[in-house]
Amino acid sequence: MQLSPRQIHLDFHTSEHIPGIGSAFDEKAFAKAFKDAHVSSVTVFARCHHGWLYYPSKRFPDRIHPNLSEPNLLLKQVRALHEAGVRAPVYITVQWDYHSAENHPEWLIRKADGSHEGDSFTKPGFYQSLCVNTGYYDFLEAQTREVCEMLGDELDGLFFDIVGIRPCLCASCRREMEQKGIDMNDETAVRAFAAFTMKRFKEKMSAVVREYNPNCTIFYNAGHVGPCTKPSKDTYSHFELESLPSGGWGYLHFPATVRYARTLGKPCLGMTGKFHTSWGDFHSYKNQAALEFEAFRMLSMGCACSIGDQLEPDGHVNPTTYKLIGKVYRQFEEREAFALPSRPVAEVALLTAENPLVENQLSDALLGACQMLDELALQYNVVDTEMDFSAYRLLIVPEDIPGTAELAEKLNAYVKNGGKILAAGRGGLMENGRYPECYGVENRGKRALFPDFLVADGPLGEGLESGAEYVIYLAGEELASCGAETLLSARAPYFAREGRLFCSHRYTPSAKGETYPSVFENNGVVVFSHPIFGQYRANAPRWCKLLVKNALTHLIGSLCVEHDGPSTLTVNLLHQPEQNRYTLHLLSYIPVRKSAEIDIIEERTKLADVQVRVRVPETLKKAVLQPEGREIALENGSFTVPVIDGYQIIELDY
Ligand SMILES: [Zn+2]
Repeated sequence: MQLSPRQIHLDFHTSEHIPGIGSAFDEKAFAKAFKDAHVSSVTVFARCHHGWLYYPSKRFPDRIHPNLSEPNLLLKQVRALHEAGVRAPVYITVQWDYHSAENHPEWLIRKADGSHEGDSFTKPGFYQSLCVNTGYYDFLEAQTREVCEMLGDELDGLFFDIVGIRPCLCASCRREMEQKGIDMNDETAVRAFAAFTMKRFKEKMSAVVREYNPNCTIFYNAGHVGPCTKPSKDTYSHFELESLPSGGWGYLHFPATVRYARTLGKPCLGMTGKFHTSWGDFHSYKNQAALEFEAFRMLSMGCACSIGDQLEPDGHVNPTTYKLIGKVYRQFEEREAFALPSRPVAEVALLTAENPLVENQLSDALLGACQMLDELALQYNVVDTEMDFSAYRLLIVPEDIPGTAELAEKLNAYVKNGGKILAAGRGGLMENGRYPECYGVENRGKRALFPDFLVADGPLGEGLESGAEYVIYLAGEELASCGAETLLSARAPYFAREGRLFCSHRYTPSAKGETYPSVFENNGVVVFSHPIFGQYRANAPRWCKLLVKNALTHLIGSLCVEHDGPSTLTVNLLHQPEQNRYTLHLLSYIPVRKSAEIDIIEERTKLADVQVRVRVPETLKKAVLQPEGREIALENGSFTVPVIDGYQIIELDY
């Protein structure tokens, strides 16, 4: 399935205290605004977080927005968009519905003390969560059926919003947990039950939708796609990765998430917003360069794009917003053939320890690794321990990956079959205190005398001053070889900083004593004794990145893509086998922490004469700048990109 490439998610959460809802709606103007802005799909609203319906419901007339001037708003929006050749999937809210929360307290998610989950009713907002194990489900199903019946073949898709794993101790959840013998004092067990009930909800709801429409898209939004999504992935047609960099997710969330989501076998789109900040920021406009970066980065990772907006209550489309979006989507459209469809190249896999019962809990180790690897232009996916590693040349095991006997066996077999491993700290360490055999090291517990000072030397010292000591602030593990060789050594401080034992402002310096092994190598496995990825997340020491880069090249030789541009360059390589080509996507936009709350991109950062080398199994014959169509010199996979003005694609034919 190919997703519609240029989408809008048109929020319409609209208060009953505002008059004339849809009074300025004009079918022709509505459709034209999107068409002119190069939009290919608009998600329009059936029921919003306030709980109101935007169509003439026969089953729930009391739920129709009381001030709806245009009674057929939803249907007219869908038909106007279809008339213009634009798709129009439909939005239905699930766990947030203010009308239901106010009128059906028995439908609310309850905590153990009986209070409801989410915000207080005395605060403005619709953030009181509802439980789909209650009578609320019957209402949701009936309302969904009504939308399916009303739109028939005109239904392009359903977007169910706020469908998260939220532990609940309401009367019906308690009843079912009791029947199942679940200990309600065990938080993990209660959470696992919540995950089970959400999976069951999605299965039921998808079956309902499929009764009416075998082909429409179905998506359940939890603000994150990850291991929490995997058990119920078959209930989705595709994934929409909500990730507004200015709305709390930050610029690192999308790349870290899509690298996992794209391994689940469904097409993905990224979702950002036109807002300067986040949802509901009606009268704000994201800087064009920021919107370009966010949309183009999705494309460069093989994804379609959705931009969030909110329609004003009178139903008119904001011309300033669509002028902005049009400028971005026009460029997107010119470039999308070089990314959609495609297979992202991934030579390395990074293991995630994300808990499948909790949404959006990306660890510092994972985020630090992603930041570092993105800066190194490494082409990689994020995988969980259940997935197949055999397609990757190298597997990274960050320090927070819990070890199990199964994982150890899998890692040993992977190495036996020629796979390489880069492990850090306690990554892969089992409860019995042992590492997988392939590591060739033993763990003697956490290092008490720290920090360590790595002494730059040998293959890992490339780019560092030979013999200089480089601090790793976080405590590492005390490792001893049981077969592995020393790749890098370290020295200890005079003493650990503790109580009255201290020196100067920070840590005790190196005692210049004997060195001891700190990084080990054992038949294709490199083990760092430090939590090197969490360290990079904490304060990004450049030497940590260089050490990892050197370890990677030591293990697998040259990386698939190498360049002499700055570390801020975003580099993605896509494979389009049907066209016998790869496409390299270079993005030069730099988020700057200009404010206390969010990172800002205000302009493109223009680069000149960036040297790139791409190594793929096929022999590359031609390099062409796209969408300009200008050929550039190519020799042994190497070429010089004359200018990168924000976004440059290089088509590489074989
Ligand atoms: Zn419940």
